[in-house]
Amino acid sequence: MIVTGPLSGQAWKSIGWDGFETIGDEAHAYMYAQRTPDGRIALGGRGVPYRFGSGLDRDGAVAPSTVAQLGRILRRMFPAAVGAGIEHAWCGVLGVPRDWCATVTLDPGTGLGWAGGYTGQGVAAANLAGRTLADLVRGISSPLTRLPWVGHRSPRWAPEPARWAGVRGLYTLYRTADRLETARGSERTSARRRGASPRKPGCRPRVRARVQAKGCGPGCRQGVRAREDTGAMRRPRARPRMPPAVLA
Ligand SMILES: Cc1cc2nc3c(=O)[nH]c(=O)nc-3n(C[C@H](O)[C@H](O)[C@H](O)COP(=O)(O)OP(=O)(O)OC[C@H]3O[C@@H](n4cnc5c(N)ncnc54)[C@H](O)[C@@H]3O)c2cc1C
Repeated sequence: MIVTGPLSGQAWKSIGWDGFETIGDEAHAYMYAQRTPDGRIALGGRGVPYRFGSGLDRDGAVAPSTVAQLGRILRRMFPAAVGAGIEHAWCGVLGVPRDWCATVTLDPGTGLGWAGGYTGQGVAAANLAGRTLADLVRGISSPLTRLPWVGHRSPRWAPEPARWAGVRGLYTLYRTADRLETARGSERTSARRRGASPRKPGCRPRVRARVQAKGCGPGCRQGVRAREDTGAMRRPRARPRMPPAVLA
């Protein structure tokens, strides 16, 4: 993520964006941005590549190439923001399950529970997962405990170096597809992207859509709808495990 300094009134006049909407470009290697209440632009994307062995970034420093890459996107989309400069940059680790599906799990035998695998979409999902876990711990059957991610088991990631090659290769294909689609001005997805992930992820988009569109308080029926909408989701297959790490 990068954030600019405060933009001048004239810059905001030329950009518009009066509604403070959050925006994203829908590319395969996508970006997202928002106008902050104090008049800056915060912009993020998939900047730091996967580290071998699901390694973590322990020093917290953002790679200069990542800042430069996000800066290029900023200048291209918001030329009027250039004068504000880039004041801060930060990054973090995303835990990504093999099937891109988050999980909320409680083992009644040990009493241990965990929630995670939000694939970079955890601000709302972690709240929902926490409330779901609370119902599971208390043994309450609720719409939350019937959500399809409860008890979901993701398949194992491939061992290294296949994992490294697969993730790096996938992002190379994504970026190539983005470049080709941009150059052609095409609205159709490049064949290279289809080669990268021929099957759509099983559960995340639909569950996420429900979570974001409806929210879920006690007694809401979101869980029932989500279960119906995600009928194609795979059933639990293996023991839970922590997902490997991919840097945001
Ligand atoms: C760069 C970046 C951009 C992101 N953008 C988005 C986005 O736009 N939208 C979105 O929905 N999600 C986004 N995410 C993902 C989202 O931030 C996470 O999924 C979400 O914050 C996970 O919530 P959590 O409560 O599980 O963990 P966290 O938010 O990481 O909270 C864990 C807390 O526990 C504390 N902690 C850890 N260990 C200990 C300990 N031993 N003792 C005490 N405290 C401890 C940590 O300090 C931390 O405060 C982004 C993530 C990153 C890294």
